[in-house]
Amino acid sequence: MRLSELKIKTKKRVETEEDDRGLSYLLRANFIEKLTSGVYNYLPFGLRVIRKIEKIVREEMERIGGQEILMAALHPKSLWEQTNRWETFDALFKVQSRYGQWYGLGPTHEEVVTPLAKNFIFSYRDLPLYLYQIQTKFRDEPRPKGGLMRTREFLMKDLYSFHKDEKDVDLYYEKVKRAYLKVYKRCGLKPIVTEASGGTFSKFSHEFQVLTDKGEDTIFLCSNCGFSRNKEIMKNGKCPLCGEKLESYQAAEVGNIFKLKDKYSRALDLKYIDERGEEKYVLMGCYGIGISRLLSIISEVLSDEKGLVFPEEIAPYRYIILPLYTRKQEIDKKITEFSEEVYRLLADNQQEVLFDDRKDVSIGEKFNDVDLMGIFYRLVISEKTLSKKRIEVKKRNSPNLKYLSKNELVNLKK
Ligand code: ATP
Ligand code: MG
Repeated sequence: MRLSELKIKTKKRVETEEDDRGLSYLLRANFIEKLTSGVYNYLPFGLRVIRKIEKIVREEMERIGGQEILMAALHPKSLWEQTNRWETFDALFKVQSRYGQWYGLGPTHEEVVTPLAKNFIFSYRDLPLYLYQIQTKFRDEPRPKGGLMRTREFLMKDLYSFHKDEKDVDLYYEKVKRAYLKVYKRCGLKPIVTEASGGTFSKFSHEFQVLTDKGEDTIFLCSNCGFSRNKEIMKNGKCPLCGEKLESYQAAEVGNIFKLKDKYSRALDLKYIDERGEEKYVLMGCYGIGISRLLSIISEVLSDEKGLVFPEEIAPYRYIILPLYTRKQEIDKKITEFSEEVYRLLADNQQEVLFDDRKDVSIGEKFNDVDLMGIFYRLVISEKTLSKKRIEVKKRNSPNLKYLSKNELVNLKK
């Protein structure tokens, strides 16, 4: 893509309510736009990153047997009454049709996925079953905060698992834990698996917490054995595993996994016939990843004083070509020709490549934009590199320069 056609207009500065570096980069680079408090639009570059995070999530969910579906966002009131959550789920957005019916705007999907699973589950032979979706969720949060961190409309991946016994739930729960850690690792993060409240139906759930002072949670962490527990359920300051004193940290929750036992299958009547012909309630687990919050946290944690420093797999583009002109007509013509050649070569090799052909922007601003937007490889073509038929290559996350030929460039490994 040519930047002259993309109408990229980055901003020098933006006003944010909080002093939040990641958010200010996302806004300055035009990745996202605030529509109103707690509601955001995703613009072309931000959406590209979101799609890449989603791709990682899909790959890791499919690897543990997840099948993707897309559930409705408008939920009939009756389902939420059956689970007793119409009145008790505080953040539920309720809307009324002009024809009378009431709906909830889906903040989570147990009420929908449990009856839906009746299409698949009849006997023990139909279990286990894993269904997931990536979808827009709605929650009437009292205090939207930190850009995409806490919003009233946000993207979530939610996976639901269905099992015949607790042993099977436990096995899958651990599998999901490992899959989640892979997702975060590919996104450049290393969250801490933290014990949290399990609600009424199991002792603990587990949160995936990224250490950052922009997080709203406080977690306790044992420097000796790595044990971690959310402050909300902490009784004393000692590690229950090794007795060491725990330290507290600010952190942001990027995911949460729960065992639900038969809470929803009982309320919504999801049963199966077991090996002995007896009817039993299906046991369930639910597992969430906050996709849009993840973008927010990645931008906060993986950035420097110039802008976003994303891992290659989620950078908005892999390459950007920057011709460095000299004002000597003959040479500039050759620089353009060589830049076009490199651009075509990369594009023909299915590489994600930008060509900064903007005429009305100074080279200094172009360099700043590359760093701000977190494009992974910066390719400079100048009088100097031209004379050797080389391209100056710099990775966003390293100060080193390399001088590569066209062939070496296309052979750069992913
Ligand atoms: P929190 O404790 O932060 O309010 P939660 O425990 O209610 O979140 P879950 O229902 O477990 O959230 O949702 C799964 C994931 O969705 C969370 O781990 C978080 O990353 C993300 N998430 C939850 N609420 C929001 C929100 N209002 N805005 C953006 N992301 C959210
Ligand atoms: Mg949670």
